[in-house]
Amino acid sequence: MILTQCAFCAVDLGLSLGKKCGRCSTRYCGAACQEQHWKEGGHDKLCKKIKKAGGAEQYNANNKYAEAVAVAAEACAEDTKGQTCYICTQSLHWKTKEGLVRGCACRGTAGFAHVSCLAEQAKILFAEGEENNLGVEVLNARWGRWSDCSLCEQEYHGVVRCALGWACWKTYVGRPERDQVRGLAMTVLGNGLTGANRYEDALSVREAELSMLRRLGASERSVLAVQGNLAVLYEELGRVEEALRMKQDVYAGHLKLNGEDNVSTLMAANNYAATLKDLRRFEETRSLLRRTIPVARRVVGEGDGLTLRMRYTYARALYEDPGAMTLEYLREAVTTIEEIERTARRVFGGSHPLTVEIERFLHKIPSTVRREADLESQVKISV
Ligand SMILES: [Zn+2]
Ligand SMILES: [Zn+2]
Ligand SMILES: [Zn+2]
Ligand SMILES: [Zn+2]
Repeated sequence: MILTQCAFCAVDLGLSLGKKCGRCSTRYCGAACQEQHWKEGGHDKLCKKIKKAGGAEQYNANNKYAEAVAVAAEACAEDTKGQTCYICTQSLHWKTKEGLVRGCACRGTAGFAHVSCLAEQAKILFAEGEENNLGVEVLNARWGRWSDCSLCEQEYHGVVRCALGWACWKTYVGRPERDQVRGLAMTVLGNGLTGANRYEDALSVREAELSMLRRLGASERSVLAVQGNLAVLYEELGRVEEALRMKQDVYAGHLKLNGEDNVSTLMAANNYAATLKDLRRFEETRSLLRRTIPVARRVVGEGDGLTLRMRYTYARALYEDPGAMTLEYLREAVTTIEEIERTARRVFGGSHPLTVEIERFLHKIPSTVRREADLESQVKISV
């Protein structure tokens, strides 16, 4: 569950404390709040409706989903003007009247769709896979439809990812807690909220997820994955030292569990390095990345977002380090960042968060330094 507060006074209840409404499962800190909510908070009018929708969690998911779709369609309105959905071929959705979105790497007239159509497709494909026992590989690929565009095969980002996250959660929240798919849906929702910079909301979902996994005695692998995601949120919320400790543990955990040549280990290394850099521990950042970037090139390839992010962090750890401030280092850093920006633009498109982030950083570099670097673009790039 992700509703962790008293519905009336909003005090934090954790995951199992409190008192539930017998009909609709709305949670309260105690009988007093429940009574007041009924008398003054309008619960007398809503209770039936919430019960009918499938209980408090489902009702909340449905509402949040509708809000997130509206936000996404609004944000994409300019980009999607005059286009039609590649799934239902309409401009307005026949039933929900929602507008179109696009939040992947599709260009031109490709990839416009309604969140509802994307969600319906993902739901049907996955259900079909489950019903016919198509095996883990097929199920994984189909599950990917909740986060990746089937046309350009890149992840959705920003508000579109967030809307799909709520769509996914709304679809599977009603399953029993032990059902693995419900847990996966929670992860997708957490990713979506993080992708849309809703860090506080994402944090409460991730914390609920972690405590659920512990309660169910989940595998080390699953716990590490959630801890890794939590650490990212701590950092975004300014709890940097906490983030660093957790990222270090997660990286060590993955190394032990999966070895060096593994995507999860590499992602953990990249996350750890980014925080080391933010704490201006440049030497350690570079040393970690010098070991792991060659592995990333081998395991996921040069054009993969992970490799690009690692190289970007490395270049920043050079550029921002006053101790390494020689002209040669500076040039190496700037040339690398420019090259990564071109690759990111080619692979993900100009509106992708990585491309945008790098571009923003490049703008802050004084033009004199960039000209120097351009002249020297033949300088050998070592990492
Ligand atoms: Zn209360
Ligand atoms: Zn109720
Ligand atoms: Zn559609
Ligand atoms: Zn796409």
